[in-house]
Amino acid sequence: MANRDGNGWTACGEGHRHWGRHGAAGLLAFAPCRDGQDRRDRESGQTRVLLQRRSWWGNHGGTWGPPGGARDSHESAMAAALREAEEECALPAEAVRVLGILCDDHGGWSYRTVIAAAARPFPVRSVSSETATASWVPVAEVSALDLHPGFAARWPVLSSALQPLTIIVDAANVMGSRPDGWWRDRAGAARRLRDQLTGLAEEGVAALPESTRAPALERWFPEFVLVVEGAARTVAAAHAAVPRRRGGGGVPGGGGVPGGRVRVVAAPGSGDDTIAALARDLEGRRLVVTADRQLRERCVAAGASVTGPGWLLGQL
Ligand SMILES: [Zn+2]
Repeated sequence: MANRDGNGWTACGEGHRHWGRHGAAGLLAFAPCRDGQDRRDRESGQTRVLLQRRSWWGNHGGTWGPPGGARDSHESAMAAALREAEEECALPAEAVRVLGILCDDHGGWSYRTVIAAAARPFPVRSVSSETATASWVPVAEVSALDLHPGFAARWPVLSSALQPLTIIVDAANVMGSRPDGWWRDRAGAARRLRDQLTGLAEEGVAALPESTRAPALERWFPEFVLVVEGAARTVAAAHAAVPRRRGGGGVPGGGGVPGGRVRVVAAPGSGDDTIAALARDLEGRRLVVTADRQLRERCVAAGASVTGPGWLLGQL
């Protein structure tokens, strides 16, 4: 372990000078504001992002951007971003859930923005001499600020990623599309699928289907909702009873899982009705995985995007 061995200037393939010998990372936290004290927020459900204004004496002094800084050689972008946010803005890592990572690659040097959701804006303050102010800024007001040039360039993509992503999996349909003997033991097949989704949630998804019209991130960490019905329903009770692993480097989102996680929902009746209701009611981007034509139409009408089991199986 070489702490802070990333501090220092370096040059990228595009001929710029950058701070961070092993690259740099920042944390862009966002939060809905529908229960804010502010009447305007309550009415609009306006999303806010946590930004800091740099002290006047630093590099790009006085500009606004997410908290962030140099990565150490041993450090993941996620760990570096959460550490910097805590060091600069007193952001508690357990208050956010990582949703994705945007990589800005300059050739030989990169800046990774870790996008994270908070349930609500929590108190933040500057706790570093490098930070003049920390505050939750309404998304609509961000581009009017004097932004750090790197953040200004990334903002159009980042602002389109500020919503939760849920992938709703039609377990019966996905299981039925691979001939692995699922018909002999439906609960066992559902358990296998759940375990594979847990692995995928930890690793993240590199590319979403085009139907989601989502920005191109290096990694997405969605929440998976596995909807089971009939004999496969027992996996839901078993899943709820499994204690979540702890100690994933203090990263929030469900024990050892960095950002993504898996929830199992047992459909009380038809799985299709439960899936269509989730596609209608969940917040943010919803992607439904099923090949069932009628269900696909219901989900699209509910504002979700759909993809076939082949896409999901290709990720596992
Ligand atoms: Zn560069």
